[in-house]
Amino acid sequence: MNHFEYKGGVLYAEDLPLSVIAREVGTPVYVYSRATLERHARVFKAALAHLPNAHIAFAIKANPNLAVLKVMQREGLGADVVSGGELARALIAGMAGADIVFSGVGKMPREMIQGLEAGIGQFNIESEEEGVELAAIAASRGLRAACALRVNPDVDAGTHDKISTGKAENKFGVPYDRTGAIYSRLAKLEGLEMRGLAVHIGSQLQSLDPLETAFTKMGELLRELRAGGQIVTTMDLGGGLGVPYRADEVFPTPEEYGAMVGRVTRGWDTRLVFEPGRAITGNAGVLLTEVIRVKRSSNRAPFVVVDAAMNDLARPAMYGAWHDIDAVKPNGQRMVANVVGPICETGDTFATGRDIDALEAGDLAVFRTAGAYGATMASSYNSRGFVAEVMVDGDKFAVVADRILPAQISDAERVPEWLA
Ligand SMILES: *Cc1c(COP(=O)(O)O)cnc(C)c1O
Repeated sequence: MNHFEYKGGVLYAEDLPLSVIAREVGTPVYVYSRATLERHARVFKAALAHLPNAHIAFAIKANPNLAVLKVMQREGLGADVVSGGELARALIAGMAGADIVFSGVGKMPREMIQGLEAGIGQFNIESEEEGVELAAIAASRGLRAACALRVNPDVDAGTHDKISTGKAENKFGVPYDRTGAIYSRLAKLEGLEMRGLAVHIGSQLQSLDPLETAFTKMGELLRELRAGGQIVTTMDLGGGLGVPYRADEVFPTPEEYGAMVGRVTRGWDTRLVFEPGRAITGNAGVLLTEVIRVKRSSNRAPFVVVDAAMNDLARPAMYGAWHDIDAVKPNGQRMVANVVGPICETGDTFATGRDIDALEAGDLAVFRTAGAYGATMASSYNSRGFVAEVMVDGDKFAVVADRILPAQISDAERVPEWLA
């Protein structure tokens, strides 16, 4: 459910026609619906409300825009961060250090220091080496870093290879069968306070089965650790719940996810941490674009060339991902088209041979479900500048990220004197 709906034949974001945003801000532009963001945060909270001690840390990498983070913070969510830059954003958005989880396989010493100084609630340690390093940094400051050890459960998430993170060959977490040994070694270090385990097997999961398998394996580790005398008070179950990108896809609901978690974690007697990203922001955003021209050639499907490109929305080029495409003012006709951006790469293709609303030069269209892993993956490839972002609230909107123009980017570059 989201708040991008047709009213009187025009696509609206909440109570605002998208054509108004295109006119006032230009295209391409990401448009987020505040009501949808709030709704998804609340649905997720409600789905976990039956658990005795659940904490939700929004995975900032899905959508790190400060206005989006502010909505999450107002809903009482913490943050899962994977870099010093994301940590800084969570703090700017007003999230408490204690509500922040620091994940990531390559935390650098300066990021560890940044996390310690912010008093973050949990470092998710991804290797024995990292734990030893963090312990030394914390101890040298007279601190103890609160930690969970990220486990690689060797479970196939059944998702795209590039966003699968829980197979033994993936770079994330410590090997399942070495968890006990590593945990007890790290628990002895003065600079660490080992509180529990963490797992995250991948993103855009369409089935709860791999999650259930992974959580069940985590429960076995939990019992093993306790039997060995370790203290375990936190279990972090990561994110990964997928969202439908096509109208005909069926995904598990947050309620079904919550029920499964309740079943598997019964008797654990720990705090449970969740790190949803996509499930909260995915369909709370669209990428609004204008058709530059329609290129017709011979007997093939025409190319609808739009002003958004793979630098603005990388998912189709990166993962072969599907985004539904709809006209802002459909004229009732359909066409079969290839929808492409202006970038000089064949990979800059959003849809091939797709049945879409008929589009002509100057028409507006949206790529739906662009609120997660959209703007945050943007680049300036082909010197196109960075796409703008807007948030709608009822019938008003605000630009929540300025468009960064190509000239602003080249202004930050220098030709050295010895070349001039
Ligand atoms: C990316 C990531 C998430 C969020 O994944 P979603 O699929 O967006 O829910 C959560 N935890 C970690 C460690 C991640 O890397």
